[in-house]
Amino acid sequence: MPHVRRALAMLFSLLLLGQLGSLTIHREVSATSAQPFSLEGRGIWVHPSYFSPDPELGPSEIRETFALYKSLNINFILFLVKDPRSWVYYNSEINPVHPNYRWDPLNVSIREAHALGLEIHAWFCVFPEGISEMQDHGLLHERPDLAMVDIDGNRVPWACPAKEEVRDYEMSLILEVATRYDVDGIHLDYIRYPNSKVCYCDHCRSEFKKKHGFDPLDKPEDPLWISWKCSQVSRFVNETYTKIKRIRPELKLSAAVFRNPQGAVTSVHQDWRSWIVGGYIDFVAPMAYIESLQDFQESVENILSSVNWRVPVYVGIGLHKLPDAEALLDQVYVTRVWGAQGQVLFCCHHLKEEFTEALKNGPYSDSASPPHRDYEDEEESLVQGQARYEATLLTAERLEKTLKEMDRTLIITRIWAVAATLTAAACFLGLVLERRRRSP
Ligand SMILES: [Zn+2]
Repeated sequence: MPHVRRALAMLFSLLLLGQLGSLTIHREVSATSAQPFSLEGRGIWVHPSYFSPDPELGPSEIRETFALYKSLNINFILFLVKDPRSWVYYNSEINPVHPNYRWDPLNVSIREAHALGLEIHAWFCVFPEGISEMQDHGLLHERPDLAMVDIDGNRVPWACPAKEEVRDYEMSLILEVATRYDVDGIHLDYIRYPNSKVCYCDHCRSEFKKKHGFDPLDKPEDPLWISWKCSQVSRFVNETYTKIKRIRPELKLSAAVFRNPQGAVTSVHQDWRSWIVGGYIDFVAPMAYIESLQDFQESVENILSSVNWRVPVYVGIGLHKLPDAEALLDQVYVTRVWGAQGQVLFCCHHLKEEFTEALKNGPYSDSASPPHRDYEDEEESLVQGQARYEATLLTAERLEKTLKEMDRTLIITRIWAVAATLTAAACFLGLVLERRRRSP
């Protein structure tokens, strides 16, 4: 999409060079982003480790922190219930609870969030069971044979999604929360492979060979193999959607996904666009943790045009990457002008005072409700988002025209300047020659 790329570059110039003759256009875009956004998802990823594990202190810290979020007009919380190291943060009968907790952080968080009118979604890090090392607890401790195997034959501390026992296990945790806790949704994270060098366990190799007639070890880059691995992850997402809707149809399924939908397929076998097209995800939070505003903008444009306003996109903003509040405001602004349905802040640990003040006095000064909550709101928000995207493209095209006209004016000015210089030089030379001719 070359014209989009060009428009992006143009719009970026507009952001940086607003004062150079394109003030009118700059003001128009600013006006769009300054309109009150009464339909906007404003989420935050919250890790229980942010609060004291002390049963006396932890619950009151949760209450104070959620009250702060409410004052910022944040409207939903993604609360970690299973981390990548095989610990859970709720009263599970299936998986070991993090040993620091003698109370139930999820239960307290639901109570406090709902008392303030905030949604709370249970955030699961699905397939890692140790990430970088085998744990002395959890699924792979009990069943090391369920681990992924890399291309060199080494076990990796991630559970292989192609194995039924793995899918059943991870699903049992999700269903345990969906059944026993009054959450508003399930949020899937690490819903992918760790990289493209896995999984070559015996099960994966033989299942793939049965279907496609060759050992994937012989052709590790084969598109059929990549697609087969994507489908192992997608099947789990699809099953989760079906099962949680059966428990409570109003439960929302969402996912934290890699920001590049095309690259995610080959690098971590996460074909998240297919979940949207297949209709089994309610919203996505692509993790656009980028410091450079231009790269952030290009990424947001790519995400939105790929999703094409089929489901709400809440862009994940990496607070840990941003140098100051101005950078945060710029990124919120970019998500709005390109037509996203909201933002999710990563994460509670990095929400410093400078950021809260800037949000409260700026883009989050009015309250908003998350579009996914209501079908009609969602439709309206998606239509508005697409309209903003198209308006931004138009603005960028007009800017391009303006800059071209400026270029043309500059060229004419330069020609005039050169001509004037040459004329002056010729006159000067003429005068010198004339003086020499007259001098004795
Ligand atoms: Zn496997």
